[in-house]
Amino acid sequence: MEFAVPQQSFRSHVAPSAHRCRVCRETALIFQRRHVSPERWGEPVVTEFYDCDCCDTRYSYSPASATWRRLTN
Ligand SMILES: [Zn+2]
Repeated sequence: MEFAVPQQSFRSHVAPSAHRCRVCRETALIFQRRHVSPERWGEPVVTEFYDCDCCDTRYSYSPASATWRRLTN
């Protein structure tokens, strides 16, 4: 069984690089990977993961809701 590629994937090419790290106040977030939820969960949910290049704080970003979330290690 193949995984379908979301047709709205072009939206993810607009990287929200202007986000500022809440810890060190730098805008040096590095894109790490992109995760798409399995189709069996319903509407695919895209989550992007970023690391701060200055303090290694991790963030996740949801393009659908334009929401940033800080991840605790
Ligand atoms: Zn930082």
